[in-house]
Amino acid sequence: MNDGSSENGRGYDVIVIGVGPVGENVADRVRAAGLSVAVVESELVGGECSYWACMPSKALLRPAVALAEAGRLPGAREAVTGRLDAAAVLARRDSFASDWKDDGQVGWLDGIGAELVRGHGRLDGPRRVRVQQPDGGSVLLTARHAVVVSTGSRAVLPELPGIGEARPWTSREATSGQSVPGRLAVVGGGVVGVEMATAWQALGSRVTLLVRGPGLLPQLEPFAGELVAAGLTEAGAEVRTGVNVTELRRPDPQGPVTLRLDDGSLLEADEVLFATGRAPRTDDLGLETVGLKPGSWLAVDDHCRVGAVPEGWLWATGDVNHRALLTHQGKYQARAAGTAIGAVATGGRLDPAPWGPHTATADAASVPQVVFTDPEVAAVGLTAAAAERAGLRTRVVDYDLAAVAGASLFADGYRGHARMVVDLDRGVLVGVTFVGSGVAELLHSATVAVVGEVPLDRLWHAVPSYPTISEVWLRLLEAYRDAAPEA
Ligand SMILES: Cc1cc2nc3c(=O)[nH]c(=O)nc-3n(C[C@H](O)[C@H](O)[C@H](O)COP(=O)(O)OP(=O)(O)OC[C@H]3O[C@@H](n4cnc5c(N)ncnc54)[C@H](O)[C@@H]3O)c2cc1C
Repeated sequence: MNDGSSENGRGYDVIVIGVGPVGENVADRVRAAGLSVAVVESELVGGECSYWACMPSKALLRPAVALAEAGRLPGAREAVTGRLDAAAVLARRDSFASDWKDDGQVGWLDGIGAELVRGHGRLDGPRRVRVQQPDGGSVLLTARHAVVVSTGSRAVLPELPGIGEARPWTSREATSGQSVPGRLAVVGGGVVGVEMATAWQALGSRVTLLVRGPGLLPQLEPFAGELVAAGLTEAGAEVRTGVNVTELRRPDPQGPVTLRLDDGSLLEADEVLFATGRAPRTDDLGLETVGLKPGSWLAVDDHCRVGAVPEGWLWATGDVNHRALLTHQGKYQARAAGTAIGAVATGGRLDPAPWGPHTATADAASVPQVVFTDPEVAAVGLTAAAAERAGLRTRVVDYDLAAVAGASLFADGYRGHARMVVDLDRGVLVGVTFVGSGVAELLHSATVAVVGEVPLDRLWHAVPSYPTISEVWLRLLEAYRDAAPEA
């Protein structure tokens, strides 16, 4: 094979495969440590997050939520009477997806001195990466210190009869669609399912959300799914729980799609979105050349090192390691791993401290997440059920957000709920969940309390401003104080 390079390939200190938000941050950190870095990208620099996930989905959702919120404010309600202007929303979404061009992010890579190699990267034995380039050629890259896999994840479609013929949407089509289907069936009640159901219902689709389990958002506190289901229903969507799709048909490629459900009913829609899980993008990554199984998630330690590979040269950050499939958490791992690689490459030692700069320990039990529905869900750490499973002695404190002055000012008929989970043995919070309009920006206060292990006695002195929704903190502390002491 003609590489256009020597037998040993082009050498760098570090090679990063996959340049989504996480790969970018790895590159940034290793450059800051003075190391040379090549980054390999097969599609667009910026990854799923920039073009088919976080950015376009939130650009679709923000106008939907803003309009719904205005409708709950007398005075504003009378001034805002129409539906969303779908064309304007889609155009703004396009600009947030940079019209699916990556020039800006390529310029940024250039600015930090990372070398971009376009093409599909595959491991080719220890410390070697072969890149299949778009022009058909290939180039061999070699790493002196580390190869970092940041190839992300992709949507999984279930193996159902007729799934190919049905040409379903995945999260990619749901975030980049250029026209509004009249009827949209959404399969899956996780975060992607409920967010996209919210967005497309507001854009004008008649949405039917089909969920296998008893409720939405099963990983979160049960009241989160209940309030989101109520919000979707109020917006005009139909939420059907306890149903499975068993078969799909779209005999006329231009015509509607028909879903057969396991309760015996049929559902006709113009498009169907499957939001039914993610798989690692490792099936064609050459994992077998380093003794790993193609298609597997890459298990890592808290430094994001792949322990199964000898000599510690292989690292994995972001979705691909399956620790927390969220951009902010992946970027946190990237900062930890990039700093760790810099330390090791310059002869230093890895910091063993749980909260040191080289570790991504917050992945374990203090992950923050916002679901941008109407109402929003903002949660960090453990749910009450997860804390119980972990064997903690806890007290669960609930408060109706509507009773907070700031919330009643925020909107008429405000609906919401807050919960904190207290670890009684340590006197600290291990989980907090807020559901309601405007709670997303509250989340970081909870994250600081959980990660900082702030003693509840100290939290009394973090005085929330009046009249904001954050006064819920005070109400939760009062409810905790007033509850009967634990035996
Ligand atoms: C609809 C949707 C909405 C979401 N919204 C949010 C949100 O609001 N907030 C949030 O925190 N998270 C959100 N997420 C999750 C978030 O998108 C991911 O956690 C994030 O993109 C992971 O970043 P990453 O860099 O690990 O992977 P990715 O962003 O997937 O990037 C991986 C990159 O690697 C490249 N690549 C893959 N294989 C190869 C190869 N062999 N050679 C070369 N390049 C390769 C890909 O082309 C891609 O550019 C959302 C996800 C979805 C699906």
